[in-house]
Amino acid sequence: MGKIIGIDLGTTNSLVAVVDSGIPLVLADDQGRRLTPSVVRVPASGDPVVGWEAKRARAAHPKTTITSIKRFMGRRGGDSDSTKDALGYPVRAEGNAPVTVPLYGREWTPEEVSAEILKVLKTLAGEGMIELPEAAVITVPAYFNDAQRNATRKAGELAGLRVERIINEPTAAALAYGLNSLKEKSKIAVYDLGGGTFDLSILELNKGVFQVLATCGNTRLGGDDIDRALVGFLSEQLGQAGGPAVTKDAGIAARLAEAAEEAKIRLSTETETTIALPFLTPEFSFEFELSREQLECLTKPVVARTREYCLKALTDAGLASEDLDQVILVGGQSRMPLVREFASEIFGCDDGKPELNTTQNPDEAVALGAAIQGGILSGDFSDLLLLDVTPLSLGIETFGGLMNVIIPRNTTIPVKRGEAFTTVADYQKDVLIHVLQGEREKAADNWSLGRFTLEFEPQPKGMAKMGVQFEIDADGILHVLARDIKSGNEKIVEMRSAVDVDDDDVQQMIEESVEHAFDDIEERRCVEAQLRAEQTTEATRKGLETYGGELPGEQRAEIETALAEVAALLTEKEKGGTITAASLKDSNARLDSATQPLAELMMDRVMEQMLENRGVLPG
Ligand code: ADP
Ligand code: MG
Repeated sequence: MGKIIGIDLGTTNSLVAVVDSGIPLVLADDQGRRLTPSVVRVPASGDPVVGWEAKRARAAHPKTTITSIKRFMGRRGGDSDSTKDALGYPVRAEGNAPVTVPLYGREWTPEEVSAEILKVLKTLAGEGMIELPEAAVITVPAYFNDAQRNATRKAGELAGLRVERIINEPTAAALAYGLNSLKEKSKIAVYDLGGGTFDLSILELNKGVFQVLATCGNTRLGGDDIDRALVGFLSEQLGQAGGPAVTKDAGIAARLAEAAEEAKIRLSTETETTIALPFLTPEFSFEFELSREQLECLTKPVVARTREYCLKALTDAGLASEDLDQVILVGGQSRMPLVREFASEIFGCDDGKPELNTTQNPDEAVALGAAIQGGILSGDFSDLLLLDVTPLSLGIETFGGLMNVIIPRNTTIPVKRGEAFTTVADYQKDVLIHVLQGEREKAADNWSLGRFTLEFEPQPKGMAKMGVQFEIDADGILHVLARDIKSGNEKIVEMRSAVDVDDDDVQQMIEESVEHAFDDIEERRCVEAQLRAEQTTEATRKGLETYGGELPGEQRAEIETALAEVAALLTEKEKGGTITAASLKDSNARLDSATQPLAELMMDRVMEQMLENRGVLPG
């Protein structure tokens, strides 16, 4: 097998690395630069320009220079926040159509723009190799959903690369930090604050294998937010100094953004810096002294937002921070001293456990890890395996509009799990399988990944058995199999690039699930009590019809009263009234106890019938 390169396709910067004679290396361009800005400029004619040249051209050509395209990967117009960022270039985000960038009469898809970046990285890697690389491992944030992972895969294919594996960035980083040499059962937190995403993963080392215990994060939190906060502050200062309105001029906005980012980076090593923007307009120049303290004051709220994800991941993994052995920092923004202090404080690293490990270059760790994973796949690192986890629960909608989880959140992949279901109506000819992703109890509150119909051999309700199996492959792609167990008729549907993916923030989903946990559980109990009530009332009515005459009037009346009580609650619920699960459960219990004599009577009759059939009773 040929070499498999590792690519960190970042929101802000991209890198390519490869394992050479057993050593992973980040590859540099002809000027020795190892980071390639993820920036693509589309000129009026000719080929797109990528990387440093494009980044430099941004101030002069903000409308045709595409940045942060990763934010749009696998996204659709309907995603509420698709166009939230003021990026300077046009973005078409309409209805359910994929987001595009219209430039010079052509609609650029995010995959095509990313492919331009990947082509440059591929060529860059090829210069140091005997032949152009054909295969790659590409990293994505842990919280990318299927649509986003698939878009990344497609970008690789458009760049002429065979994408061997899509892996999570934090998992790759841990590999690069060489944490596989830690003692058995070591636990590691990976804190990755880049330009556009924040990821926190907790890993455990098991016999040389990394297992992801939990992942948490936000695909819209990073250095860009810090830059924005600083730009906002500087715009005010600029206004007070009598300068031009920044919002009215994309060129000025781009220059200010560039200067702000540079100042921020300088303040990671210096305590004070000068921001100088000569001739913003022919008659106005801007100069400002910015201290690290001011920057920290302005951006503390952004950095503080990472705390909740760290705590959530610890909770998900069932760990306290003292249980961790190491915390590693990844992503360019983690070079900021404030971020290091914060991470150290969140995990209580001050007293030495866990240890804050900053030995690797945080910008390069992800690409190196991807290269190591490439090495594993091509046989160079055979003693190490990678295991990822599902970021959100997957399941199907069941009767009553509830979410039935088949693969819970944070399950190690690849994984295959199944469950058997039955029909709720007599002689049902088919059943709709509605595949869901999310943490909410009600199906409608989760994301719909897709739906399909399975034909059934008609049978009385409860008799037909259907098996549903979910399989998540090593790339995190979900394959759903549904089978009519009697006829053997089955359907397998791959949920890749599903048009129905309702692509909101994963993070929001988790927050909402916590926020609504109480209501959600009440709702589930209520629906379950309702289903139970419907079943018992039907059975009781049938029983009364046949055997009611044999019961003493008093017992019959008691059953009728209990039935009426349950029926009243069900009617109330149907009309949309609010009834509690507890009240319905109480009524169910009263009905159960009232029907006790009826149930006993029915049981006696059935037994007699059986014995009679066997001819034991004297005729
Ligand atoms: P991504 O993974 O999103 O592409 P990176 O890991 O390359 O991002 O991080 C880019 C972010 O890191 C940018 O916001 C950049 O300004 C910031 N950054 C890079 N170097 C430093 C530094 N020395 N100090 C502070 N921030 C930095
Ligand atoms: Mg990154």
